[in-house]
Amino acid sequence: MVLIIGAGISGLSAAWHLQKHGMDYLLVEANDKPGGYIKTIQTEGYVLELGPNSILCDQEILDFFKDTKCDQQLVEAKPVSKARYIYRKGAYRKLPDNPASLLFSGFFSFSSKLKILAELFKKPENIPGETLDAFFNRRLGKEISDYALNPFVQGVYAGNPSRLLVETTFPVLKEYESKYGSIIKGLIKNKPGRKKSFNFKNGMQELPSAIAAQLKNIQYSARVNRIVKSENGYEVSIQEPAGVRKIKANTLVITTPPFVAAELLSGLYPQLAQALKRIEYPAMCAVHTVFNKSDVEAELNGFGVLNPYIENQFSSGCIWNSSIFSARCPADKVLFTNFVGGSLHQDKIKLPDDEILKNVKKELIKNFQIRKEPVFQKIYRIEKAIPQYNLKVKTLNDFLPNLEKNSIFFSANYINGVSLSDCIKKGKRLADKIFKLQSR
Ligand SMILES: Cc1cc2nc3c(=O)[nH]c(=O)nc-3n(C[C@H](O)[C@H](O)[C@H](O)COP(=O)(O)OP(=O)(O)OC[C@H]3O[C@@H](n4cnc5c(N)ncnc54)[C@H](O)[C@@H]3O)c2cc1C
Repeated sequence: MVLIIGAGISGLSAAWHLQKHGMDYLLVEANDKPGGYIKTIQTEGYVLELGPNSILCDQEILDFFKDTKCDQQLVEAKPVSKARYIYRKGAYRKLPDNPASLLFSGFFSFSSKLKILAELFKKPENIPGETLDAFFNRRLGKEISDYALNPFVQGVYAGNPSRLLVETTFPVLKEYESKYGSIIKGLIKNKPGRKKSFNFKNGMQELPSAIAAQLKNIQYSARVNRIVKSENGYEVSIQEPAGVRKIKANTLVITTPPFVAAELLSGLYPQLAQALKRIEYPAMCAVHTVFNKSDVEAELNGFGVLNPYIENQFSSGCIWNSSIFSARCPADKVLFTNFVGGSLHQDKIKLPDDEILKNVKKELIKNFQIRKEPVFQKIYRIEKAIPQYNLKVKTLNDFLPNLEKNSIFFSANYINGVSLSDCIKKGKRLADKIFKLQSR
């Protein structure tokens, strides 16, 4: 039997694909519902996302939705949300959305445009352990690093580009440099397929709920608290409301955050447990703010805005939820979600709630020319938000082959990709691998 620990998106995907292969599995989840970091609350007519706000889908993910019947509640992002904005010198400016408009729009200076052209002919280098910041500075210069890389990395990873590694965060860019001699050439030759952003009718929480509804063997309020080696695999202790239950499994799939995995594996693999404990997870918070539409002067025609660190704003940026998806709030209101904290802003996350709310409100009112106070505001704190793909994550890879020989597998957001789509795809690949290994 394969025991999957944790029913976030990674565990749900692994379980669904093992079920499709007809394998014997059990998915156990400590909480009383599935989803992990995916959480939505509905209050006062607003749909508030406490974790992910959307999922970027290619055909493989859309097929998975169809398979698991998630497609019935899917809501596609409005076309206007293709526009993304970056804060620069007191105004929000539209980010060029393709390499050609990068050269012809006024977003970057003439000198940076020359650097983009020069990148095509720049000698490739292989610098082990190079950070994202160093890589971008070397290939494209400081302005592009400050105004494109920095806000993007804050928006996706809540991260600090001078700590994250290019080889673990964006391995494809390193591959383009070595294969084509240039990342621009690589991007042109491997034009990414069309992807679209989606949410669900009642919010992102519908995604894990819909997948879980298709699973035959899922158990909630079941917290794994100990794993020991047994004759043909592992004996796992699970804390349930009625007491501790011990079950036997020949294969384990671990999807819990690394600080939990470290506790579970400390007896079997003390060095791996130390490596898992060292993975950094900065704190952040989501602040939801609602204004009357008639009070907002700025046109919110886009997905949202990102604030480069160099521009010294309070939040890392905000999502314009009511511009992207329909029915996020009543039609006469607008809903913003700001993110505060992450690796670069740990000082701000330490402020009390009312200070954070006040600062976000001030930033929104100033930057979007809003005439009156918000009609609603709420903060949601996440103590450990997003794993940082720095040197500490890289060391995990050294342990994985030996673990796999002993039938312990990881499918988690701190290895090979943090996005929901990555987690779904990794779940499938792992289920296929286990099926193949056990069919021999
Ligand atoms: C604020 C925020 C915004 C984000 N925005 C986006 C976005 O817009 N788009 C996107 O694609 N991605 C986004 N992400 C990233 C994405 O949400 C996560 O990477 C993903 O949800 C992680 O899923 P997971 O299943 O790997 O882990 P988790 O969600 O952490 O799931 C692990 C599960 O294990 C359970 N568990 C823990 N301990 C035990 C135990 N001892 N026994 C049993 N079960 C246990 C937990 O309760 C949890 O359900 C965002 C993340 C955050 C925090």
